[in-house]
Amino acid sequence: MSIDLRPWLDAVPADAASAIARARRALVATHENPDADTLGAALGVAAIVEHHGGSATLVSTDPVPPLYDFLEGMDRFVEDPAADGDYDLLVVCDCGSLDRLGAVRDRHRDLFERLPRVLVDHHASNTDGKAGDWVDPVAAATCEMVALLAARLDVPLDAGNGLMAAALMAGIVMDTSTFAHPNATPRTLAVSAALVEAGAPLAEISRRLYRSKPDAQLRLFGRVLDRLEVSDGGRIIHSSLDDADLAATGTLASHSEGLIDLLAQSERAEVAILFKENGPTSTRLSVRTKPGGVDATVLTGAFGGGGHARAAGATVDAPLPEARRRVLAEAERLVAAVSRSSAS
Ligand code: 5GP
Ligand code: MN
Repeated sequence: MSIDLRPWLDAVPADAASAIARARRALVATHENPDADTLGAALGVAAIVEHHGGSATLVSTDPVPPLYDFLEGMDRFVEDPAADGDYDLLVVCDCGSLDRLGAVRDRHRDLFERLPRVLVDHHASNTDGKAGDWVDPVAAATCEMVALLAARLDVPLDAGNGLMAAALMAGIVMDTSTFAHPNATPRTLAVSAALVEAGAPLAEISRRLYRSKPDAQLRLFGRVLDRLEVSDGGRIIHSSLDDADLAATGTLASHSEGLIDLLAQSERAEVAILFKENGPTSTRLSVRTKPGGVDATVLTGAFGGGGHARAAGATVDAPLPEARRRVLAEAERLVAAVSRSSAS
């Protein structure tokens, strides 16, 4: 392999690396509503543990969205840890607190509290900072961190017949929108070059994640985009998606992936918000903001959520119309503080 990742390996903490290399029976967990980054990172960690002679159980409280079926290994995720798992390490991927693991954490509270843990995450809004947690907000994706972890532990990136390289590439493609966001750094590109060299099908992953959809999903996007609204003279753009939209188009909640990024293409809007019905008394938010403007983690943080400065989310304990009122009021307050020298 000709791509040299050694200049970047100091970023990997020795204690996290040795805990993962030593694990014999690891429990590797993703965040709820899993995306390619948390799933790919978990698969990468499992491949590293297995390369070092251990075994891994991969847990995702929510089903893996069908979008990711084309990636090998996605059928390994289970809803709950094995009763007789006898785990010796918990690895938490792509989130900053155990709350984000979702319902599985409530079902196995003692286990999750008791196990020694390594947390691997790149969210700036990480809140649960325990000693030993590895949080690197400079990383474009948790998969970027896991690729460095593999390199540091001398695990070849083409381990598992190319499964690991593809899984890690998928997380990076997802979280950078195929290197289109400012979070893609020279290190992200170096890691990605190494993954492509190890066999990751970059173009195919990008097409599958961003430019290929079931027709039903295109219809869902059409409905939701058609009813977009603006407030604050266009500085806020928002739309909503309810269960009736899913029923009318025959789609799953996970088919809303990508919609917020279309709303965020608004030339004028500082803030784009998608409200998603999540049962009768709960609403999911996706938020995107313009560089130099509102910090999306501040807006979502006001409702118990988090994420990154430009892309964040939250779950609001209120029916959709009430959640919309409350979130828009907060968004208007934050947008009022943004001044653009070039604004007309
Ligand atoms: P999306 O809008 O694509 O679902 O999420 C955007 C970003 O915000 C992702 O990095 C995601 O992990 C994070 N995020 C989404 N929802 C939540 C949430 O409820 N809490 C926290 N802490 N982060 C979230
Ligand atoms: Mn991520």
